[in-house]
Amino acid sequence: MAMATAQSQSLSDVLKSVLTPGNVPTFNNYIGGEWVPAKSGETFQNLNPADPSDVIGNYPQSSEADIKDAVEAGKKAFATWRLMPAPRRAEIMYRAGQLLIQYKEEMSQIMTREMGKVVAETRGDVQEAIDMLFYMAGEGRRLWGQTTPSELAQKFCMTVRDPLGVVGLITPWNFPMAIPSWKIAPALVCGNTMVLKPASDTPMSSLLLVKVFEEAGLPKGVLNVVFGPGSTCGEALMGHKDIKLVSFTGSTDTGRRVNEACASTFKHVSLEMGGKNCIIVMDDANLELAVDGIVWAAFGTSGQRCTAASRVIVHKDVHAKLRDMIVEKMKTLKLGYGLNDGVTVGPVVNEKAMKGILNYIEIGKNEDKAELVIGGKRDESAGPGWFIEPTLFDNVTPNMRIAQEEIFGPVTAMIEISSLKEAVDVANNIDFGLSTAIYTKNINQAMTYARDVQSGLAYINAPTIGAEVHLPFGGMKNTGNGHRDAGQACLETYSEAKAIFIDYSDSLQRAQIDNED
Ligand code: NDP
Repeated sequence: MAMATAQSQSLSDVLKSVLTPGNVPTFNNYIGGEWVPAKSGETFQNLNPADPSDVIGNYPQSSEADIKDAVEAGKKAFATWRLMPAPRRAEIMYRAGQLLIQYKEEMSQIMTREMGKVVAETRGDVQEAIDMLFYMAGEGRRLWGQTTPSELAQKFCMTVRDPLGVVGLITPWNFPMAIPSWKIAPALVCGNTMVLKPASDTPMSSLLLVKVFEEAGLPKGVLNVVFGPGSTCGEALMGHKDIKLVSFTGSTDTGRRVNEACASTFKHVSLEMGGKNCIIVMDDANLELAVDGIVWAAFGTSGQRCTAASRVIVHKDVHAKLRDMIVEKMKTLKLGYGLNDGVTVGPVVNEKAMKGILNYIEIGKNEDKAELVIGGKRDESAGPGWFIEPTLFDNVTPNMRIAQEEIFGPVTAMIEISSLKEAVDVANNIDFGLSTAIYTKNINQAMTYARDVQSGLAYINAPTIGAEVHLPFGGMKNTGNGHRDAGQACLETYSEAKAIFIDYSDSLQRAQIDNED
């Protein structure tokens, strides 16, 4: 069928062109308010992980030259965008949020086709973007600084938030609209301009978000998007002297590279990286509730959430019962294409990911004493794509590789403990620190866990997934570098404090000298 491009189309036409069966549109980068192809003229394909013969679209294979243009456009736009009053900037974000509401269903269906998770979950992904836009738009009328007494009688002191300039945003594929929105929204309200380099597996979801901002009236050059590989486009963004901050979400290995690449130019760096999350189940827990939480947290998004529960730390007195209940619940899961009725678990994102997960399952099978209870194979009956059976290991010990390394797939491992102290020690005995949960009815145990666990997110009687945009999101240890996405905390990442002193004495007042008597 004839190719269409996103250049001159409205958002609704873009949606139609993607949703028309058999149509394979070609899309461009968005630089300085224009939709332009990569300088190389080359494109790459975006494939459906449930059926890799289904090509969703073609995207520009960009390189350093395209990144340079995008940064230039951002620099140019910054001069006026930073001066637009924050409440006006926020109005554009409210309009963008309304457009997401209007087109939520079409977008969710496209996102499921693009990255595999079931459509109920992609609706949640779009909803998170809506929530984030509205929450951060509210900041347009706050963006609070501080006022504080001066040491001197006729002097006034306050702080304001300065935008940084052009910021670089590098995002993963597993929350292809929510995560870009977590970065774009605070960056915009603080007055920055930006270049987004989304994951190569999910260009469409990011493009839709950018189209939303275009249609909402965002001035040209404020938000630029460049599609292409991390190894070229991501590196060029990190290496560009005029990028002031790189905000990255992705794997710990890539995050380490981002940290190193930005060090010599003193760029600000915000890193949200991998996890190895756990759910603790104590002997007094409501086991039905715990099982619901475990199965949702371990196998939702096919285990490809940074907050997925890949360890179940269970008290010895309820171990056998919990295992049987988890297995029964797992038998009710239905693997398949996420747009089909009744499907609860979709494919993993691509062939490389599938092979990596299957390799971890082999490692688990070969670990001393670990027992593969259910699952463990590719499921070709679910469809032609990258389907892996939800998989449970038991009798896992805390230092086994499947208990230590991020698998990022539908695999979870049961580890037995005898006390709360042992449970928290096992929970903390990893390099990551993103999300943990405990199921117990004992408030003393719950509070002791909350005090001692080393994770940025801690849930009591709820699974490891379930973050809300007005709370800080991020992790300790090798999961992050101290910054947080979302919540008030993210404003610190996208702005710098400026202390302003106003002297109304009409004389020279010397701090630390004239305040002595
Ligand atoms: P990757 O680290 O592979 O990729 C993330 C992004 O980095 C992509 O846009 C990728 O581009 C880009 N990239 C790759 N190499 C480079 C490079 N050398 N320089 C600059 N950018 C580069 O992660 P995944 O996309 O596979 O996402 C999964 C990981 O993300 C998991 O580890 C997960 O735990 C983590 N994650 C963490 C979250 C958190 O908040 N803590 C939330 C969600 C995910 P390209 O796609 O072109 O390769």
